[in-house]
Amino acid sequence: MNVLVVNCGSSSLKFQLINSDTEEVSAKGLCERIGIDGRLVYQPAGGEKEITEAPMPTHTEAISLVLKALVNEKTGVLKSLDEVDAIGHRVLHGGSKITESRIIDDEVIAVIDECCDLGPLHNPANLMGIRACMELMPGKPNVAVFDTSFHQSMPPKAYRYAIPTEYYEKYAVRKYGFHGTSHKFVSGEAIRFLGLDKDNSKVIVAHLGNGASISAVLNGKCADTSMGLTPLEGLIMGTRSGDLDPAVLEYICNKEGLNVSQMLTILNKKSGVMALSNNLSSDFRDLEEAMDNGNEAARLAIEAFSYRVAKYIGSYVAAMNGVDAIVFTGGIGENAGVVRKTVLSYLGYLGITMDEAANKKRGENFILSTPDSKVKVAVMPTNEELAICRDTVELVNAAK
Ligand code: AMP
Repeated sequence: MNVLVVNCGSSSLKFQLINSDTEEVSAKGLCERIGIDGRLVYQPAGGEKEITEAPMPTHTEAISLVLKALVNEKTGVLKSLDEVDAIGHRVLHGGSKITESRIIDDEVIAVIDECCDLGPLHNPANLMGIRACMELMPGKPNVAVFDTSFHQSMPPKAYRYAIPTEYYEKYAVRKYGFHGTSHKFVSGEAIRFLGLDKDNSKVIVAHLGNGASISAVLNGKCADTSMGLTPLEGLIMGTRSGDLDPAVLEYICNKEGLNVSQMLTILNKKSGVMALSNNLSSDFRDLEEAMDNGNEAARLAIEAFSYRVAKYIGSYVAAMNGVDAIVFTGGIGENAGVVRKTVLSYLGYLGITMDEAANKKRGENFILSTPDSKVKVAVMPTNEELAICRDTVELVNAAK
């Protein structure tokens, strides 16, 4: 099956065309600056990147240009759009009603629409992408894969906030969690890779990218995760603060004459390792280099980031009453050896020992712990597009 995987942001659209039989990517790319001017980056497998500037007032024009590129006589990878069998969409928020991936129908569209309040930047863009595909490829099945659905198995003790019940009942204020597609994919792959028994497994997945979250996966199901009502809660991230005393908001607002939304912009866009490094960078490549050159703010940023990850791992070991495997993924988890080493330096009490030579590797599935380590530690690249492709194929086949 040829599955077009689509991931719409407010002004961007990433895509991959995946052959589900070989799980290979036939072509990929992205549309940027949608609604501003428009630029398509397109790359067929084994071919050169092509960049085309073209007007993209909405996501419909962007998808239309992607489809044209896929069937282009010279660099296209399909003879006609009939060869696209299904479309899989990454959708940010499915609220409490959606617990798994779904074939898109009117009911699913209504839920995505209802959740626009909870995901104001992404859900409207996701809907635009879905509607554009339905318009341009009528009759093809579309599947929605939600960032929140894997976390719907959390029990109330994990997802309820200790605030008046009326806010939960009236406005559905609770922890939802994000990056669910990655947590599901990586925990499932880890169970296979490490030879664990899924029904008796305790896995912690640390998805450490520009956005970062961590989850406790008990017997293949999410038991807890660090992001909350929004992706702001939990770990320190590239530019997000993660956990802090909520009273900080009022205190700084009063001192600086800011309102709550201005303060939230600061916590989302101007905080995290970017802030701790005195605005040096949110990218760990820059931070590592600066730390190696003696920059103390960069050192603090890396230490605080790693310390927070280690504390969350400790709390999830308690949540599951043990742990069989800890898995690092995401751009930082897959590449930043210094972060992995610092995190594991806090976890010796679990009987974890790290293989120093393995910690130099990157870009593949590998075991980071020594053979005698009491807990297995692995590094595994995430692949959210492939996860979306797999769910799409499963649902489309089941519906036949
Ligand atoms: P992601 O959001 O998962 O794509 O991760 C992006 C982040 O991964 C970047 O902002 C960097 O902080 C980090 N990263 C990517 N490559 C490397 C690398 N080679 N070494 C250290 N950090 C990296």
